[in-house]
Order: sequence, then structure tokens, then C-alpha cells
Amino acid sequence: MPGAAALPPIAGGLLAWFQTNKRLLPFRQEPSAYHIWVSEIMLQQTRVSAALPYYERFIRALPDPAALAACPPDVLRKLWQGLGYYNRAANMQKAARIVCERYGGALPADTAALRALPGIGDYTAGAIASIAFGIPAPAVDGNVLRVFARLYNDGADITLPATKQAFTARVLAHMPKEAPGPYNEALMELGALVCVPGAPHCGDCPLRGLCRGHAAGTAAALPTKPPRPPKPVLPVTVALVESGRGMLLQRRPPKGLLAGLWQPAAFEAALDAAQLAAELQKLGVTAHFTKPLPAAKHVFTHRVWALSGWRGTAEAVPLPEGWAWGAPRDYPIPSAFAAYLALRDA
Ligand code: SF4
Repeated sequence: MPGAAALPPIAGGLLAWFQTNKRLLPFRQEPSAYHIWVSEIMLQQTRVSAALPYYERFIRALPDPAALAACPPDVLRKLWQGLGYYNRAANMQKAARIVCERYGGALPADTAALRALPGIGDYTAGAIASIAFGIPAPAVDGNVLRVFARLYNDGADITLPATKQAFTARVLAHMPKEAPGPYNEALMELGALVCVPGAPHCGDCPLRGLCRGHAAGTAAALPTKPPRPPKPVLPVTVALVESGRGMLLQRRPPKGLLAGLWQPAAFEAALDAAQLAAELQKLGVTAHFTKPLPAAKHVFTHRVWALSGWRGTAEAVPLPEGWAWGAPRDYPIPSAFAAYLALRDA
């Protein structure tokens, strides 16, 4: 197996590089456990530059676990609007409530106790434990797996738990026990800035002298992942219906995809205008459709929505529970509908 033998120590060069190259990020200036937690959850699927305004707004509105625990769910959804993956915010709130009940409102300085909180996996628990509390725990995300696959020139499939375990053992073997937080952060930063997906910037890398992937010319092809199966494509038909009291809006179910968020009236089926009108009639809304909506697509982690629909008008009749006439900007509406809402303002 290539790369099985230990590498010379990497921590010295890595930490020196990190000291002079790290980005000045707000959660690095005040690395409390709460700040690290919020930033790591936000950064799981979002680039740092995109997540920063959300992070700053979130911390201003909810400065500690007690504030997060007490936040009305719709306010929380609004704060998270645009980041997607809303169940992360809901899980953070569940975890904040446990932190308040069990730990007096402060995240516990214990990797296993952190790991037991809703929404906190091995990586996030390791990041909080090491960065905020100096506990020598590994924090192995996709960036770190990529760096280690290349350093060791190891083509093992990184989606397999056994590979992750073996790579985590290597990460730990190189960890300086007196600086676990900076070491983990430095690895993440190297993966984000230098050892990037595709062609790495080996010329800027403090580890190139000992990197086996670089020496073998295989780095760009690593890490190895099996191809993903295609995502199912599901039709969604939208009714963008305006009345004198605003747009017809609907709350999504309390569980499942985009739970509890609001949206323009939408049905998870391919409906023609007559079928769409019949669905709205069940609510007592008589819609007059005037224009078809252009086809659009929204890609989720496990599925794709193929969106279509109609624009129209209706009288603002009273609506059943879970429906409202209103201004979309006042509701937490997922970005899947952004293209259609923008059309409305155009
Ligand atoms: S030398 Fe290149 S491939 Fe190796 S760790 Fe550095 S950036 Fe990644």
C-alpha cells in the first residue's frame, strides 16, 4: 500500500506557515467554544466569504447558547435564510437547550459530551474541543482527508469508514499535543488555501519537501472517491399568486426537507394550469393564471427539484391554517424559490 510508512513530522513547518498565512476571521479573533461551533456548522457547506456576513449577524442576534436556546423558531429560520440546510439551525437550537439545561449555558470541555449533542459529529466535536479548549482531539473533514491522501500518496477510498479511521490515526500521530487547535486549524487552512481540490498549489506549500503525492505527480488525482449516483429529479409546480393582501404563501411541514419554512404555493408534482388551479380551489382560492413561469432547477444534497408553474392573481379570501397572504420578505423562504421571487420584483 503506497504511503503506509510514517512521514517525517509535519507540524513544525505547518504551524509556522499557519502563523503567517492564516486568514483573520472573526471566530479566530474570539475563539470561544460557541463561536467555533456556530462557524463550523455554517462552514460545512458554505465558503468562508459567503458565510461571514451570516456569522456576524447570527452572533450579534444570538450571542450565546442561552440566546440561541430561547430564539423563536421563525426568527432563527430568518437568521439562517440563504445558508440552506435548515435542520442544522434546528439542531443547534436543540443542542443549545441541552447546553443550558445540563451545562449551565456553556459548551462542555469534553469531546464525547460535545459529540453527544444534536448536530455535532466527530469533526465538529474535535474542532471545538481542540480550538476552544486545547484538547488533543482530531478534526478530520474533507479538506484534511485530501491533504493526508496527498501527503501519503494514498489512493484508498476516503468515503469508507476504515479509510477515515486510518487517516485520522495519521492526523493524530502528527499532532503536537501542546498545540492541537492551531494544528487542526492549520490543516484545514492548508486544505482550503493551498492543497485545494483539483490542482493543488504545491509551489506555495510548506510540506512539499516531504509530500509523496507531489513527488509522485499524483496529487491532483487524489483523494479517491467513488462516483456519486445521479440524484433523483422531482417535479415541483409553483403558483405565484398575488392578491390585494400580498402573495399566497404556504408553510412547509414541520418535518423533512426545509421543515417549517415558508414558500409560494407549491406542489410536488408536475401539474398543468388547470390542475394547479384545482389544487388552489381546495383552499377556497380561485386563481386566474396569466403567465407561465420559466423552468428552473434547484439542486439539494440528495435530490433535484425541476420547478415550473404559473403566475396569476386571486382575491384575498380567508385561508386555512398554514397558509397566508403576505410579503415574501417577511417570511423565511428557501433559496430554491429565489429565482421566481426575483421575477416577481422585476
Ligand atoms: S505539496 Fe501539494 S499535494 Fe502535497 S500537501 Fe502540499 S499542496 Fe498538497
